[in-house]
Order: sequence, then structure tokens, then C-alpha cells
Amino acid sequence: MTFRLTCPVCGKRDIREFTFGGQERGPRPEQPGLSAEEHFRWVQFRMIPGAGAEAGAGAEDAGAPAGGRADTRREWWYHGQGCGVWFRTTRDPMTNREVEGGGGQG
Ligand SMILES: [Zn+2]
Repeated sequence: MTFRLTCPVCGKRDIREFTFGGQERGPRPEQPGLSAEEHFRWVQFRMIPGAGAEAGAGAEDAGAPAGGRADTRREWWYHGQGCGVWFRTTRDPMTNREVEGGGGQG
């Protein structure tokens, strides 16, 4: 299965040019009261893309969803075969289509 992502620099490119960087986890936890374990988990799940069974860990949608629908995912992607930029996009996991920034059917 293949699909396309929209790089903010290069435009629409094949998924094979990109590297998945993990699901968007919201802002970095820098509050003083954060426990070492909480920070560790944030770093681990953030820094190890595709670490497996992360769903249902309680980290999802802890804050207000920033304009995202409930059935979409915000993700980080890296355009390693292109301009080398990290960017976020919102995809529908059912269709793999981007739901933001795109102009509909591409
Ligand atoms: Zn690019």
C-alpha cells in the first residue's frame, strides 16, 4: 500500500520518501512537578517511532485536541529522501489520507 504526504517544502511526495516520526504527543512536559518516570515515558515514546503497543497508555488526548477530529491522528514525519525537514501532518488512519492542508483528492 502506498500513499502520499504533503511536505511543506516539496509538496506531495510518495510515502517512501518519508520516515515516520511517531504520533504527536503535544508540548514537551517541562512543568516542575513532572516525575522522572513521566518524563522518561515521554522521551521514550517520543523518541522511539513505532514502539508498538502505545495506544491506550493514557497519553492520548490528555489535553484539548488542537483542531483534530477524534478519528484522525497527528503525526511527525521526516522527509529524509528530500529536503530533510520534520513536519506534522494529520491523517485518517482508516484511509491513510491527510485531512489537513491537502486540497481533497490528489
Ligand atoms: Zn521535502
